[in-house]
Amino acid sequence: MRTGSCLCGKVRYTIKAEPAAARLCWCRDCQRLASNGTVNAIFPSESIEVRGVVAEYVKTADSGNQVTRRFCPACGSQLFADSTGRLGLTVVRVGTLDDPSSIKPSANIWSASAPPWACMDSELERVERGPVPPAPKKA
Ligand SMILES: [Zn+2]
Ligand SMILES: [Zn+2]
Repeated sequence: MRTGSCLCGKVRYTIKAEPAAARLCWCRDCQRLASNGTVNAIFPSESIEVRGVVAEYVKTADSGNQVTRRFCPACGSQLFADSTGRLGLTVVRVGTLDDPSSIKPSANIWSASAPPWACMDSELERVERGPVPPAPKKA
């Protein structure tokens, strides 16, 4: 089981499943959130239990999907994202996990919009735009 929290600790969560995928995203929306690429792991939504109040912001992504980003209204930490393009799966921002090293990203996605100074591990798969979403896993 994995645990995590926002910066101020008012939102805490537990995850009872293994990630379906983990990767770094360089889309422009992520760069605005994180000032850099974001590091994300995708879990079955029902495996995530959240304690505390989260705020939401909905925006249409470069992929055309509606993305609902959830964050702590007190400290602003980005925690989760749900997309109409992958129902039943939730993105968790890996840096909010109590043990971020428990996740191993496999790819950089939307690399075409990364700035030239972006550090990308050449060992990882590189996808210029959006990847094929993973199939939802049944718990
Ligand atoms: Zn917070
Ligand atoms: Zn992104």
